[in-house]
Amino acid sequence: MNNFDYVILGAGLGGLSAAACLTKQGYRVAVLEKHYLPGGCCHTFDCGEYSFCADVHYISQCAPSQTIGQFLNYIQRNVAFNSLDPDCIDRVITPEVNFKIPLGWENLRTRLLSTFPEETDAINRYCNQIQQIHQEIHSLVQEIHWFNRQWSDWFKLPKYLNLYKKRTWTLQDLYNHVGLSPKLQALLAGQSGDYALPPNQIALITHTSLVWDYSEGAYYPRHHFKSFVDTITDAITTAGSVIKYSTPVTHIEINHNKVESVIAGTQTYKANYAYISDLDPKLTVQLMHNKKALTHREYQRLTNYQYSASVFNIYLGLDSRFQPQKYGIGNWNLWYYPTGNLNNEYERQLQGDLSQPWIFLSCPTMKSREPGIAPPGHHILEIATICPYAPFKYLHQSNPKGYKAKKREFYQQIMTSVRNLIPDVDNYARMKISGTPTTSEFYLGQPQGNIYGAKLVPEQVGLNRLGYTTELPNLFLVGATAGYPSVPGVISNGMDLVELITKQSVRQKTDIPKPLITVE
Ligand SMILES: Cc1cc2nc3c(=O)[nH]c(=O)nc-3n(C[C@H](O)[C@H](O)[C@H](O)COP(=O)(O)OP(=O)(O)OC[C@H]3O[C@@H](n4cnc5c(N)ncnc54)[C@H](O)[C@@H]3O)c2cc1C
Repeated sequence: MNNFDYVILGAGLGGLSAAACLTKQGYRVAVLEKHYLPGGCCHTFDCGEYSFCADVHYISQCAPSQTIGQFLNYIQRNVAFNSLDPDCIDRVITPEVNFKIPLGWENLRTRLLSTFPEETDAINRYCNQIQQIHQEIHSLVQEIHWFNRQWSDWFKLPKYLNLYKKRTWTLQDLYNHVGLSPKLQALLAGQSGDYALPPNQIALITHTSLVWDYSEGAYYPRHHFKSFVDTITDAITTAGSVIKYSTPVTHIEINHNKVESVIAGTQTYKANYAYISDLDPKLTVQLMHNKKALTHREYQRLTNYQYSASVFNIYLGLDSRFQPQKYGIGNWNLWYYPTGNLNNEYERQLQGDLSQPWIFLSCPTMKSREPGIAPPGHHILEIATICPYAPFKYLHQSNPKGYKAKKREFYQQIMTSVRNLIPDVDNYARMKISGTPTTSEFYLGQPQGNIYGAKLVPEQVGLNRLGYTTELPNLFLVGATAGYPSVPGVISNGMDLVELITKQSVRQKTDIPKPLITVE
């Protein structure tokens, strides 16, 4: 039997951030992880001479006063971040536009107005609305902890009437309201892959938070994502807590309406205070192997949500003859929508038609020149788009040859979009790897290969998000579905949860050196 103060299931950044904060408070924590590497979606894997971050490409909230800055201050660690190019953090290409999204909301407005003067009124209406919604969300979350609501909160709500009315809006509703042309609708949803939904489905408040957060800062860890994750695991293990790799949790034992222990690998783990699951909530419930472990209502609440879409990833290692700048690739992300109709492109792709898919493309070797992920002078490209899960699941189980053929087919179709941007990409490729939704499911335990946990539609965000507590007093949730996805999202979940459980402030400022934030 292994006894700890807290037992955490899963070493994604939600689990690791909670573990690091609890360890900082003097608790002894065990993190149980099924993978042989830490970080979940943010883990880095090696392939020959190249290393690839599985999923993550850029992050927001890294300034000292923001979530990641505060978290690193709290655990007394430094991580240096590079800013993406302030003049272009995301470049959006459709048949009608080729537009660089700059840092700064007002910079974006100015650039939109000067590029599309014929849409001045609609652009101003859109920018003003996003600004207002952002300000309202910002002040609401200062006043009310959505994950720990009190009766008295109701008295604070009347001043948020505008937000309340727009809680059911999608981005498309805002587009219709402000009267933007289809051309600008596509451009302004250009970062859509960051929430994996088209304008007619994404919750307006989620779109607002995402575009606003990145407008305030878009960062890449100077020593790459592995060093960022390693910094956090080091803070956990050097202070006496443990992370057990290749240790999948296989059972959660419930007794007298409490978690009694968990079984992982060949061992049983017990927590003096509580168990924290960074796993998908449905998966967490499944591991109880007992439908009566929860009341019917709680069972429904924790299992009755829709997943976000799944993804097809391509990782390329390119030799030193490849010159990214020649193709308009730099210290930014590239979003390419071949038809410019995002609502159609998403619908078509999720039905399995990947002819002319939209793609996201990132070149991490342009975001930091520090060595460690490719031989000197070489480059890495990471490419992703959404695709359906079901065909891969079916073929993976029933027809391995068919699975490989489907994987090749989607790979080639996605590469057609890549070749539209880099016609001779194949000449430079020394390493080609791809991952299907079942790859994500296998390595990360993401059910159905989902990208962002519960789908970010209006019915599943805001006050409808699951939250960190369960009806079992010693079981808490910390991952993307409990709170919000993204790296700052789940780190924020971890910090909020620890404050909730231990009542000790985590978001305080300290005097230790601030993270270094520079543009390369
Ligand atoms: C394709 C893609 C691109 C993304 N791009 C970005 C980006 O550019 N910027 C950004 O900020 N965010 C991005 N995100 C989102 C972000 O990476 C995630 O929201 C966040 O990392 C999720 O963290 P988590 O702690 O909820 O869970 P996860 O990272 O999913 O971690 C869960 C952990 O639990 C482990 N586990 C599962 N089952 C078990 C078990 N039975 N026993 C023990 N361990 C188990 C898994 O192995 C994993 O390590 C991206 C996500 C994806 C998929």
